Amino acid sequence: MDTLANPLIGFATDGSRWQQLANQISGTVITPQDPQYDTARRGFNLAVDQHPAVIVAAHTAADVQTAVQFAAEAGLGISVQSTGHGIISMADENMLILTSPMTAVRVNGAAQTAWVEAGAKWGMVLQATQPFGLAPLLGSSPDVGVVGYTLGGGFGWLGRKYGLSADSVNYFEVVTVDGRLLRVSATENSDLFWGMRGGGGGLGIVTGMEIRLYPVTTVYGGNLFYPVDMAHEVMARFREWTAVAPDELTSSVLIMNFPPIPDMPEVIRGKSFVMVRGCYCGPADEGEALLRFWRDWRAPLLDDFKTMPFSAVATISNDPVDPLPGLSSGAWLRELHDDVIDTIIDRAAPHNGPSPLIFAEVRHAGGAIARMDAAANAYGHRQETLLLQLVGVTPTPEVHEALSQFVNEFKLALQPWLAGVYMNFLEGGESRQRVQEAYPVEKYSRLMQLKAQYDPENRLRSGFNIPPAR
Ligand SMILES: Cc1cc2nc3c(=O)[nH]c(=O)nc-3n(C[C@H](O)[C@H](O)[C@H](O)COP(=O)(O)OP(=O)(O)OC[C@H]3O[C@@H](n4cnc5c(N)ncnc54)[C@H](O)[C@@H]3O)c2cc1C
Repeated sequence: MDTLANPLIGFATDGSRWQQLANQISGTVITPQDPQYDTARRGFNLAVDQHPAVIVAAHTAADVQTAVQFAAEAGLGISVQSTGHGIISMADENMLILTSPMTAVRVNGAAQTAWVEAGAKWGMVLQATQPFGLAPLLGSSPDVGVVGYTLGGGFGWLGRKYGLSADSVNYFEVVTVDGRLLRVSATENSDLFWGMRGGGGGLGIVTGMEIRLYPVTTVYGGNLFYPVDMAHEVMARFREWTAVAPDELTSSVLIMNFPPIPDMPEVIRGKSFVMVRGCYCGPADEGEALLRFWRDWRAPLLDDFKTMPFSAVATISNDPVDPLPGLSSGAWLRELHDDVIDTIIDRAAPHNGPSPLIFAEVRHAGGAIARMDAAANAYGHRQETLLLQLVGVTPTPEVHEALSQFVNEFKLALQPWLAGVYMNFLEGGESRQRVQEAYPVEKYSRLMQLKAQYDPENRLRSGFNIPPAR
């Protein structure tokens, strides 16, 4: 890294050089001297304070190719960002390529596919596809970037029925660090196609991709709220419910600590609940019948499960849309054993004071995800069915550090039950440290070989921390 960083001194401050780059692309070049610099270097997660040497807001694949060549001449490392929802390594002293201006989405209704540029968010794809009666495999938030999400796997509310987003890619268009523009599919550059579906963004810069779509316009989805002191019973019952759940149902159980902020409805403001949430993508009456398992058992405090247009799927998780400083962590759980439930309640529910977490959620995976041939692409842990995610807000670096320690201890307490990590739910230092836990040994070593082949000097530094094989 140091050998690459040294030559940039002088070059990066040579404004005329960046002016040349600006003259050759249709996008924008932003240097630390420019007034837009502070906005451009920001991501969704405001806890990330990165200082790239130069920022290139790309408008086309050709812009990305030109930018990559300039970065090589300057000896700069490269970082890529669309929304900044999942920053793993800060872009300090690198060229940061922003794909956010590249937002084209073109739907082919007959073929049930969409071409999506690298800066598109899921909400844009959802909006473009629903009029065709089709849906993409987005996650809980339509504000997340399509490409970053997919490179890490991509597990959303249609996951158990239709699999991961990575499993539904027909082809990628990719700029390699040496500036080539490649089509990457099952038949063209198939080694990269294997590695980019679940292996993260370390092998090349995706400028667009074609994805498959599915016939979903209406779902039966929502949340049940129970008192937090029922958490053990509810989680144990969730274990029973999901043991026989059809693939059409993707669901989760969580302890939710709603923050005491004024724009929160009073009924939930500052309060904690144990919640069951889910999305059933088959006929609504079947979804309703599945919910009787809960409604006939104990009346929830709040129950907003209903038939809804799939375009409203974001209301199930209600993830924040405005940038904020936060921390996300997680791990696969072997089972929702009583001891696991007790540990989650012990750490995530309030006891003599609030928990530092906003939520601790266990999502139910499996179904189509587990049925896909494990060798088909780089994604690991296909057989695991319970995914724990821990999320908190961290307004200062000190709070971030304290929460990071809290989360480590939480996971240490769960250690006997953990079965590896899901990279999309890790960020920053934890992501860099634990990447090997996301893959079986042979997949990880194949990803290292691919990195050695496509980026031997590790110039592309924002992807998962998988070094080139030596
Ligand atoms: C509110 C919220 C909800 C979420 N919900 C889900 C969910 O339901 N399911 C799920 O699986 N994940 C979920 N995630 C995690 C999310 O998928 C990851 O954080 C993902 O990395 C975000 O991608 P992005 O492009 O939006 O973010 P960015 O920070 O812009 O990109 C993340 C990383 O992806 C890589 N990357 C991005 N674009 C490119 C490109 N064009 N070429 C090469 N590499 C690239 C880079 O390595 C970059 O560091 C959620 C995250 C948040 C914050």
